[in-house]
Amino acid sequence: MAVPKKRTPSSRRNRRRANIFIKEPQLVKCKKCGKPTLPHTICQECGFYKGKEYINVMAKMEKKQKVNKVAEQELSTQELSKK
Ligand SMILES: [Zn+2]
Repeated sequence: MAVPKKRTPSSRRNRRRANIFIKEPQLVKCKKCGKPTLPHTICQECGFYKGKEYINVMAKMEKKQKVNKVAEQELSTQELSKK
């Protein structure tokens, strides 16, 4: 029979077992858009919490698109400069 060479320390054993007790996060439906979100947090889809807008999702999206466009332009200029 295989015998372990060393005793498993309690900390290592506990680290291993910690993963057994991880629970799936409890999700609630967003009252505005119906997407599942964490309770007591702002919905990441629509930016609303308790009927009030906290994150301007549209502005965020536009900003992201702008950044992506700039990155694309930089990439294309780099490729052109290589040639
Ligand atoms: Zn929402």
